[in-house]
Parts: sequence; C-alpha cells; structure tokens
Amino acid sequence: MPIYDYECKDCGAEVSDVFQRVTDPELKRCDACGKDSLYRVVTGGLHSFMAGSNTIGSLAEKNTKKYKSQINEMEAAKRESQPSVEKPWHHEHGSKSMKEINKMSEAQKVKYIREG
Ligand SMILES: [Zn+2]
Repeated sequence: MPIYDYECKDCGAEVSDVFQRVTDPELKRCDACGKDSLYRVVTGGLHSFMAGSNTIGSLAEKNTKKYKSQINEMEAAKRESQPSVEKPWHHEHGSKSMKEINKMSEAQKVKYIREG
C-alpha cells in the first residue's frame, strides 16, 4: 500500500505517512487550519514506491537502448557484409571459373583481368 504525504496550501501543514489504497480518495481537510486545502505531494512511501518502478523503468529503457544499439550494429554489419557495388573481377569475366584462373600464372592472370 502506498504511503502518501499531504501538504496544506493555506497553512503549509504537512501530513506525512498516510497509508491509503490507490483507490482511496485524497485527503482534503487540513487538521491544522480546518480548510480543505490539502494536496498530495509525491514523497515518502509513494516516492520509494515510485523509485522502485522507476528503477525497473530505467532498466527497461537501458535494455531498449542496448537493444537498439545492437540493432544498429546488426544493420551496420549487414551493410558491410552486403556485396559492394564493385563486383569481384572474376565474376565479370564469365567463362573462366576461379579454379581455372588459379591455375594461371601471375602474368596470365594479369592478362586475363586486363583483356578478359
Ligand atoms: Zn492548513
């Protein structure tokens, strides 16, 4: 059950550590001045209650950020692994296979690359 703190707008009186169900109506009546000037302030028990959920929230946010950066890294890797615009030379010279080219001498390779 959350703990609420109240403060009076009129006299500044503080009512702290009010145990309330979330569904309970907010306190209004100030005991110090008798006016309905209390407002709920987010401190104390509620704060720690909120802090707990904030921790989970920020963790989730961290994970999302981590996940996002992982996605970005994956995207970058994908881009890098994609074939570049410049095709490997041996693909541009249709008829001869890589095996055949490997059997050639360096001079033959150069000639093949230059003249096709
Ligand atoms: Zn008051």
